[in-house]
Amino acid sequence: MKIIDILNSKEVTLSFEVFPPKTDAGFASVARATHKIADLHPAFMSVTYGAAGSTSKNTAQIAADLQNIYDVSVLAHLTCVASDKAKVAEMVRLYQSIGVENIMALRGDVPKDGRVCHDYTYASDMIADIREQAPDLCIGGACYVEGHVECTRQSDDIKNLKKKVDAGCDFLTTQMFFDNNMMYNFLYKIRAAGIEVPVCAGIMPITNENQVRRSVALSGATIPQRFRQMVDRFGDDPEKMKQAGVIYATGQIIDLIANGVTHIHVYSMNKPDIAAAIRDNLSEILK
Ligand code: FAD
Repeated sequence: MKIIDILNSKEVTLSFEVFPPKTDAGFASVARATHKIADLHPAFMSVTYGAAGSTSKNTAQIAADLQNIYDVSVLAHLTCVASDKAKVAEMVRLYQSIGVENIMALRGDVPKDGRVCHDYTYASDMIADIREQAPDLCIGGACYVEGHVECTRQSDDIKNLKKKVDAGCDFLTTQMFFDNNMMYNFLYKIRAAGIEVPVCAGIMPITNENQVRRSVALSGATIPQRFRQMVDRFGDDPEKMKQAGVIYATGQIIDLIANGVTHIHVYSMNKPDIAAAIRDNLSEILK
């Protein structure tokens, strides 16, 4: 099913993101984890894609299994920073051949060695191209509630986001954030800029201290004091940190839904127990 139709028809949605293995050796354990997450009956699941295209085969295989065995609507990611037009066209055809109706079209992070392909400069260039090749596909795009790290002014980032939506993006998903006020402020600004597509709030449950160093630092997200205190108090104890992180993410989600942000995309990091804990915490709210 097309994700835009799900977002338009359901008042509240909970969806999960998984990532494919980097090597074939890791395939079975990742597949098991993604299947357990599919068993939670999310509104849809997204499957990420290595920026350099290294995971393309595994992304497609995980997406195909989720869709065809577990009957979950899938959002297959695709990046263009290291892909030429022929590779993008090949991936679009592959996704269509396995029944995927939704593509998350991203530029990808510029690799450290600076080796990029110049067929597309921005995600919006690829979105326009995919829209032309496959007018019926549902296309998602990324957005950044505190501005993308490469863009010094948020107002410029929002102007660029408007170009992305105008190029054919049906809905947006945000980068992780830990302070909901940032999200409310962002939504106010993008609506004022004429961006009207649905926005899924990207929520990352932080359940171990390493994640704070890696993902959170990379995202550039503001860390509220109460989040900092939580990691400071529980970061050394994996079980306590896990419980605290799930509760923090649940609190964020409840506040978002209460304030009208009703599409929640959880970066579940291939962890079925964490995805299940969040879903269970919201069981009545999701009914
Ligand atoms: P773009 O939309 O192209 O934006 C990149 C930068 O260029 C921004 O600073 C923007 O302001 C600027 N810009 C855009 N258009 C213009 C223009 N016309 N003129 C001037 N400047 C412009 N990475 C992966 O490798 N694999 C994944 O699966 C993946 N999934 C993601 C999912 C989500 C929900 C999010 C939020 C991010 C994801 N990423 C993923 C990370 C993403 O690839 C990086 O954040 C990347 O640096 C930017 O990608 P983008 O699609 O937002 O790029």
